[in-house]
Amino acid sequence: MSDSPPSLTRLRDLGFERAGRVEPRHASISIAIDDPAVQCASPVLYAFVVADEVMYVGKTAQTFGGRMQSYCTPGPTQRTNLRVRDLLLEVIAGGQAVTLWVWRDPGTASHRGLVLDSAAGLESAVIRHLQPPWNGGKRGLGTSSAQIGAPASHADSSAGLVPAPAPTPSRGPRPHRVGTHAHRILALLASLASTASERPQGAPRAIGWCDDCVADRASIVPRQTVNITARKLEADGLLLREKQRCPRCGGTKICNRLA
Ligand SMILES: [Zn+2]
Repeated sequence: MSDSPPSLTRLRDLGFERAGRVEPRHASISIAIDDPAVQCASPVLYAFVVADEVMYVGKTAQTFGGRMQSYCTPGPTQRTNLRVRDLLLEVIAGGQAVTLWVWRDPGTASHRGLVLDSAAGLESAVIRHLQPPWNGGKRGLGTSSAQIGAPASHADSSAGLVPAPAPTPSRGPRPHRVGTHAHRILALLASLASTASERPQGAPRAIGWCDDCVADRASIVPRQTVNITARKLEADGLLLREKQRCPRCGGTKICNRLA
């Protein structure tokens, strides 16, 4: 677990205000916006927040309400909208609340008579600073990141996952890196499979860990994210989940190992 204060604290310091919340609706989501004035704001930065941790930061030049609508009814080729919508659904299914925060560009920054796009500048700075996990950030990975570095290569060709590229310093296309949690889980389990000291004497080679231990070691919050993601990976044939004695914590729980 990270010792640093929740990233929402920093987001508020930066001037983000609470704007609403995400709710389940049929097979998708709906977004309840607190203040109708925010609905029409543009441009804005927005953030999805779970348990006081910033999960995703985005910017839109559309109205805020219009941008949120495209998360609720994503088109079949809108990969970012689909991916973030599915992550939101997973969190809600796990019983967590998702709140929505915005920063409205006052449009007052200029340089020698030219109006500057403060939202764009702040977006890349915020993502670099907070490293939200759904933007592909490493926040919470902790000191064991080297150990769980490279994802298992077979994860990339299955399950529609896209390999997470090395973090780029700032500009360029927005870091829409897919399957961060899935990659972390698979990479951790792959590292266990190849590390003799992580398993007891005589245990099968591919033994895995329970969701709690995976969440702890991979620093994935909220913890339910591991459960949800691992069940998806199981459905995609990448993981096996069986009740057994977790070699790390000793509890008899559902444990994950690579398929
Ligand atoms: Zn365990």
